Amino acid sequence: MREIVTLACGTCKRRNYTTTKNKRRTPDRLSFKKYCPFCRTHTEHRETK
Ligand SMILES: [Zn+2]
Repeated sequence: MREIVTLACGTCKRRNYTTTKNKRRTPDRLSFKKYCPFCRTHTEHRETK
C-alpha cells in the first residue's frame, strides 16, 4: 500500500527527491524541509504527482 511520491522544491519547482508514503495513513500532501541543490539552500519540498 505504499506509493512512490515525488518531492519538488517550492521555490524553483524542480523535483529533487522521491520518497514513499502510506496513502491511507497520510492522505494529505506531504511537505519536508530539504536541501535543494538548485537553490543551494534548504527549502520546503512538496509532494507532486
Ligand atoms: Zn529549489
